[in-house]
Amino acid sequence: MEIAHKRTRRLPAVAAQFLLGITGLALITFVCFHLDFGVARTGFVFVILIALVSLLGSSTRASVVLSFLAAACLNYFFAPPLFEFRIDAQDDIERIAVFLTTSLVVSVLTSKLKRSENELRQNQSKLQKAQRIAHFGWWERDFTTKHVSLSDEVSRIFGVQPVDLPEWHGRWLDLIHPEDRARAAEAAAAALRPGGPRYDVEYRVVRPDGTPRVIHSQGDVTWDDSGRALRQFGVLHDITELKQTERELRASEARFRTLVDHASDAFFLYNEDATVLDVNRQACESLGYRRDELIGMTAFDYGPDLTPELLLRIRERLRAGKTVTYDGRHLRKDGTVFPVEVRIRPFWHEGQLLAVSLDRDITARKRAEDELRASEERFRTLVQFSFDVYWESDAQHRFTRQEFAEGLADAPAPGSEIGKTRWEVPYLQPDEEGWRKHRETLDAHLPFRDFELARPAPDGGKRYVSVSGLPVFDGAGRFIGYRGVGRHITERKRAEDELRASEERFRTVVHFSFEVYWETDTQHRFTRVEYAPGLVEAPVSGSEIGKRPWELRNFEADAEAWRKHREALNARLPFRDFEVARRTPDGGKRYVSVSGLPVFDESGDFVGYRGAGRDITERKKAEEALRRSEAYLAGAQKLSLSAAFAHNLKENLYWSEGLYRIWGFDPSRGMPSREACFQRVHPDDRDRVRQVVEEAVRQKQDYTIEYRIVLPDGTLKHLRSICHPSYSPAGELVEVVGTALDVTERKRAQEEHERLRQLEADLAHLNRLNVMGELTASLAHEILHPIATARNNARAGMRFLEVSPPNLAEVMEALACVVKDADRAKDIVGRVRDHIKKAPPRMELFDLNVAIDEVLVMVRNAIENHRVAVRTCLMEGEATVSGDRVQLQQVVLNLILNAMEAMSSVEEGARELSISTELSQPNGLLVAISDSGPGIDPEHLDRVFAPFYTTKTSGIGMGLSICRSIIDAHRGRLWAEANRPRGAIFQFTLPAGVEDS
Ligand code: ADP
Repeated sequence: MEIAHKRTRRLPAVAAQFLLGITGLALITFVCFHLDFGVARTGFVFVILIALVSLLGSSTRASVVLSFLAAACLNYFFAPPLFEFRIDAQDDIERIAVFLTTSLVVSVLTSKLKRSENELRQNQSKLQKAQRIAHFGWWERDFTTKHVSLSDEVSRIFGVQPVDLPEWHGRWLDLIHPEDRARAAEAAAAALRPGGPRYDVEYRVVRPDGTPRVIHSQGDVTWDDSGRALRQFGVLHDITELKQTERELRASEARFRTLVDHASDAFFLYNEDATVLDVNRQACESLGYRRDELIGMTAFDYGPDLTPELLLRIRERLRAGKTVTYDGRHLRKDGTVFPVEVRIRPFWHEGQLLAVSLDRDITARKRAEDELRASEERFRTLVQFSFDVYWESDAQHRFTRQEFAEGLADAPAPGSEIGKTRWEVPYLQPDEEGWRKHRETLDAHLPFRDFELARPAPDGGKRYVSVSGLPVFDGAGRFIGYRGVGRHITERKRAEDELRASEERFRTVVHFSFEVYWETDTQHRFTRVEYAPGLVEAPVSGSEIGKRPWELRNFEADAEAWRKHREALNARLPFRDFEVARRTPDGGKRYVSVSGLPVFDESGDFVGYRGAGRDITERKKAEEALRRSEAYLAGAQKLSLSAAFAHNLKENLYWSEGLYRIWGFDPSRGMPSREACFQRVHPDDRDRVRQVVEEAVRQKQDYTIEYRIVLPDGTLKHLRSICHPSYSPAGELVEVVGTALDVTERKRAQEEHERLRQLEADLAHLNRLNVMGELTASLAHEILHPIATARNNARAGMRFLEVSPPNLAEVMEALACVVKDADRAKDIVGRVRDHIKKAPPRMELFDLNVAIDEVLVMVRNAIENHRVAVRTCLMEGEATVSGDRVQLQQVVLNLILNAMEAMSSVEEGARELSISTELSQPNGLLVAISDSGPGIDPEHLDRVFAPFYTTKTSGIGMGLSICRSIIDAHRGRLWAEANRPRGAIFQFTLPAGVEDS
C-alpha cells in the first residue's frame, strides 16, 4: 500500500520537473541564441539549468532526458552549421561531448544527493517516532559551551518546552521528585569526577503539570587529554509504565505465592526426572524440610513407595497429557511416614515437560475411616452386649420388628407384640400424662432417649425397661417409622435407688456436719470442692479446682502451721482440724477447720486426699468473745473491787484473782478451803452467813448477803456477796456461783454520811428550837387567844343555864364554840410541838399555801409587835408540793423572822413584808419573801448562805445555811436578791409535787 501511494505521488512531480526543464531550456536557447553565446558558454548555462532542475525535482531520468535535449539544442542552434544536426568543427564536438558528460554527471549526482537527503529525513522522523513510542530520548551536555541539548522526547518526558532549555541545568533538578533530588545530583556530580562511577541513575520526575514519571538516565563523559570533561552524552528512558507493570507483576506474584503457600495441600513442581523445582509452604511443613532443602531433591527422597518403574509409568501418562492420581506415602525429615493423596498434572514450558503435583495429607481422613470402622465394630459389640431388645415400628408407631437378646428373662412371646403400638402392650408405666408426652414426641418424629417403662413380671413384681428410639426417613425425607433399642434396667434401678438413698443419707450427714467436702489428687490439687447449700459467703464454685490449698490466695494460716500441714500431706498421713482462715470478698474472715484422709487405690498407690471442712467462724467468734468478756470481767472486777467465785457448800470450785486479793489469800498456794474462809469471817457474822447460805440453797433462791471479814493483820472488811445456786436436773446442788464486792469503803462513807446527816438534822432542830424560843412570847399569846375565847363562851353558856327556863339551844352553841376554841389552841400547840419535835424527815404531798398560812399564824403576834405590814399574794388553787412539810415551814419561818429582824433595825420608812407563791417554769413553784429592811450588800448576796455567817451579835449564822440545804434536798434552789427600792428578797423554787400513783 505504501509503495502504490508513492508512485501516484511521483508522476506529477516528474512531469512538473520535466516541464520546468523544457521551459528553462527553451528560454535559455532563445536568449543565448540572440546574444550569440556560442557553444561553450551556452553549454555552461545549460549545465547550471540542469543542476537546478535536478535539485528541485527528484527524477534522474527527467534530468538525463533534459541533458540530451540540451545537447541537441547546442548542436542545432549553436554549432555550425546552424539549424542542422551536424557538427563540423572538432572543437564543437568536444564541447558538446564535455557538456553532455558534465550534465549527465551533475544530473545523476544531484538526484543521488537528493535521494539520500530524503532518506535521512525519513530516518530521522522514524527515529523520533521510535523515541516517542519507546519513551526514549537522548541528551547532551557540552562542558565547554555549557550548552545542553535534549531530544524532543526528553523534553516531552520532563514536560518542558524548548524555551526552557537555556536554563535547563538549573531546571533539571527542580523537576526531580524532592526525595530523589539529592541522589540524582550526587550521581551527576560523581560521574564528572575522574575515575568516578558511570552516570546511571533512576529517579522520579514531577512534571510542571504535576504528573509523576519514573526515569532511567545514563550517560558517558568524553574527556580531553588533560583529563577534563568535554562532553557528556546520555540516554533517558521513561520507565514509568515499566515500573508500574513490574510492581503489578511483583504484587501478583506475591499474591500467587501467598495463595499457594496458604493452600492446605502441598504443591510440588517437578521436571521430568521428578526433581523438585519449587514447593509451597505446606509442602515444607508437611515434610519438615526448608524450601531451599527441598528444591533439588527428587520425589524418591521422600516418596518411599515411588519406584523407577512407577515413575516411568507416570511420565508416560503425563506425556499423553493425562492427570495422574494415586494414594501413597510421604516420608518426613524426622523419619515418620504419613499417607497422602497425590494428583499430578503435566504442562509444557519452553518445550520441556513439567509436572505440578498436589499432595494432600490424608492422615485425618484415614484416621476417620479407621475410627469409623472401629466405631462400627464397637457399636456392634455394644449393641450386642448392652441392649436387651432391638425394635422397629412403622409410621403409625406399630411394632414391625422386635428382637430380644438371647436368654432374656421374662421376655414376651416372640411376635406377640408385632402390629401393636407401645401403649397397647401391657406396660405399667408411665401415667397417662407420660404417655401423652411420649406420643407427642413420636408424632413430632423426634428422637427419644431413656423412656422408662415398667412391665408386669410373672412373679407379680415389675420389670423396668428403658427405651430409646430414632425416627427413620426415606430417601425423599418421608417419615417411615422408628428404630430403637430397649434395656432391662430393673437391677440398675434397684442399685440406683439404693445408691441414691445412701448418697442422700451421706449427703445429709455431710451437710449437717460439714460445710465443705473436698478431694485432691496426688499433687494435692483440688479435684472437687462441694459447699453445703446456703453456706454464708461460699467461694465461687470451681474457683479452687486445680489449685493446691497453699496456692489459694484467700487461704491463710501461719507459716509454721502450713509447714506442718504439708509435712503431714507429704507423709500421706490423715489430719484433723487443721484450721485455716478464708478471706471473704468484703474483707472479713471465715475460719474453716479441715480434716482429711489419704486415699489409696486397690494396688495401694496413693491417689489423693478426701476430706471435709467445717466453718468454725461462729465458734471462733464465740471463743474470741468469751476470751474478751473474760478479760473485761477481770478488768471490771479489778476496778470495782469485786471478784467471782463458785463453791458447792463443801469446797471452793473457782476463785477469781480478785477474790484472793479481797480475802488476803496467796493465789500461788491454791484455793483455800471453805473452812479457812469461815475462819476469816467476823465471829459475829459467822452463824448468820451459814444460815443465810443454807436457807437460800434449800429454797433454791438467789441471795445477797453482807458480812465482815477479819484478815490476819486485823484489817476489817465489809463484803457484799450476790449468789446464784444452780442445780442438776435431779434437783441436787451443782454449785453456787457468786460475786463478792469489797464494800468497806462504801460502808465507811455511808457511816460518815449518816453522821453528817444526823449533825445537820440536829442543827436544823436546834435552829428550830432557837426560833421557837424566840417565838415563845408570840406563841403564848396565840394560844391564850383561843383559851380566852373559850372562857368567854363557857361563861355565856353558864349564863344561859342560869335563866329559867335555861336556854339550852344557846348553851349548846356556846359549848360548841368552846370545843372549837379548844381545838384551835390544841392545833397551835400541836404545830409548835411538831415543829420542835425531833422527827425524821418525811416526804408527803401538801399544799404549800396552807403551810405558809400556818407559819403566818405562828408569827402573827411577832408581826404585830414589830409593826410590820404583811402582804400575802398566794397563787390561786392548791400549790401542791412534795416534801417534808415541817422542814419547808422552817425555811419560810426563818426567812420571815430574818426579814422582820432586818426591818426592825431601821427606824424610818414603812415595814413591809410580802410573801408570794406562783407557778414557775418548768413545772415548779416559786416562793418569794421580800422586805423593806436595809437589804444585803451585793457582794455578800451569796455569802449569807455560808454556815456561821452572821452580822448579828446574838446570831449563830446557821439559819440560811440550813434553809439552803433543806431546799437543795428538795431539788430546789434558794437565793437572795436586792429588793426595790430597798430591802432584800429571798426566793426559792420547788418542783411541783406530783402524786405518786
Ligand atoms: P443569823 O440570823 O443567826 O445571823 P442567818 O443565817 O439567818 O443567821 O443570817 C445570816 C445573816 O444574813 C444575818 O446575820 C444578816 O446579816 C443577813 N440577813 C439575813 N436575812 C436578811 C434580810 N432579810 N435582810 C438583810 N440581811 C439579812
